[in-house]
Order: sequence, then C-alpha cells, then structure tokens
Amino acid sequence: MPGLCEQLDPTKWAELLKNIDTVIFDADGVLWLEMDAVPGSPELIERLAAMGKKIIIVTNNSTKSRIAYEEKCQKLGYKSIKKDDIVNPQVLCAVEVLQRTVLTKRKVYLIGIQGLKDELDHNGVQYVGDGSDHFENYSETEFLYDVPLDPEVGAVIVGFDSHFNYVKLMKAANYLRDPNCLFIASNEDTIFPGPNLNVTMAVATAAIVTAVKVAAQREPLLMGKPFSTTYNYIRARWNIDPERTLMVGDRCNTDIKFGVDHGMKTMLVLSGVHSLDDVDTYRKEDRKYLLPDFYAGKLGDLL
Ligand SMILES: [Mg+2]
Repeated sequence: MPGLCEQLDPTKWAELLKNIDTVIFDADGVLWLEMDAVPGSPELIERLAAMGKKIIIVTNNSTKSRIAYEEKCQKLGYKSIKKDDIVNPQVLCAVEVLQRTVLTKRKVYLIGIQGLKDELDHNGVQYVGDGSDHFENYSETEFLYDVPLDPEVGAVIVGFDSHFNYVKLMKAANYLRDPNCLFIASNEDTIFPGPNLNVTMAVATAAIVTAVKVAAQREPLLMGKPFSTTYNYIRARWNIDPERTLMVGDRCNTDIKFGVDHGMKTMLVLSGVHSLDDVDTYRKEDRKYLLPDFYAGKLGDLL
C-alpha cells in the first residue's frame, strides 16, 4: 500500500524486486557517508546489477563531476557503477533544458562555479559572467542606469557562486526582464552540511536564488530532486516505467517526494538524514507526499 512505510527484510525485498526493473539510488546517506561506504551497500548494489536490474544514481550534490563520482564508486566497491549511470540533475537538466528550448539567443549568463562550468563546457554551451565581476569595473552612476549586457544572452542559470555580488544581481535581473530569457536555478538548498555548523553556517544557493527572484520578480525552473525536470530527463534517457521503478533515498523531502510525485515505489533508508520519527511527524501532518512505501535500516539489511 502506498505510503505505508513497511519494513523490508531480505524475503520481502526479494518479493518486491519481482515487480521492479529499475532502482534509482540517492548517494549521500545511502551509498556512502562522506568518504566511507555504508556497510553492505556495495554488496547490495552489485547483487542487483548481477540480477540485471537497471541502476541509476541521482545525487543533488553537484560539488563533483560525474567522472569524479565514478572514481569514488570504484574506490568504495560499487564496481558496476559508471559515469553514465550517474545523474547530477542540477547540471544535466540545465543543459537538457537549454538544448530542448529553441533560444534565439544562445549564450547563458552564469551565476555559478566550477562544477557547473565543467558541464556547460563539456556540452558546448557558451556562457558569460563567471568569476568575479567587480563593481570597481564600472562607474557607479552609469552602472545603475545603463547596465552593460551581452545581447546574445538568452538564459540565466543561478547556482552557488562565492563571487555573487550587486553587479551580478543587476545583470541577472536585467537579462530576466526579457520574458523569453530562461530562468534556471540549480537548487534551493539553504545551507551546506558541514562539520562545524555551530561555528560557521555555510550559506548555500537558496539565498542567491531568492535575491535574483526578488530582483527579477520571476520564478525559476528548478533542477534536481524532487522536481520534474529531473524525472523528465531520466524518463527520456532510459525510458523507465515508473510503476516498475523503486526510488531509494535517505531524505523524505527530496528523494521520497521525488518518487511519490512521479508514480514510483519508494524506500527510505535510515542510514542518512531522516528517521522513522520524521516519518511519524509527516503522517500526523498528513503530508502524504513525504511518506515512503517501504523502509530499511540500511541497504545492507536486505542482503
Ligand atoms: Mg542523501
């Protein structure tokens, strides 16, 4: 039954797999925690691969390129996982959206850092605006009333950018005055998880996206889980049948919601962010879209 949060054991897992062709895994908190594999996860993934199940890794963490993720998988024992099995939706969907859209102007105004630039370069997407863009380069009054804009820009992509400043905000907002200019945001994470959150709160992408949203008075297309941009990308690329697909993750608001919203079966693992207490809370609040069909302590419990 959907949203029942039934605990799986190896027998029930084997039964479930009879109706599953594709398993989509989140990475952080499911496959690994920082630099260590979650015990048993590599064995389970390799067993699924040997059974001929299609395995797709979908991470919202865009700090690494897909090649770097493949290297990490190989090192931690996920031998069957290759670069092309890994989806970094924030980046890939942005490229996909750009390629699908008939833009009369081909350049992107980019608020973003290296990971995003690497994938745009790899896909031959031209961009401007990366790196520092200092106010000192412009006369203050001229700048306020005559922002220098590139006439070839037809899309604005906003991700995390440690150089973000007033100049970039003005440029992004002014490009977005054109209703035909695409507005894409990589994610709305508020803070970065880190070892010293009590000392330093690492402000993430949401604050930057919000600044551009307020300035431009527009809403962006959002990439990553749980959004449909990611689902559409996966569906188009692998032709998955959602009813025969299981989404596995450690976060209800991204992974489980992604599965529920797109008609997949869902499983929560308790080796990462969310717990059964969280699930109880969501049930009391009647937030059905956050409730998994199944759960396991960790993937290794299903061996
Ligand atoms: Mg995770």
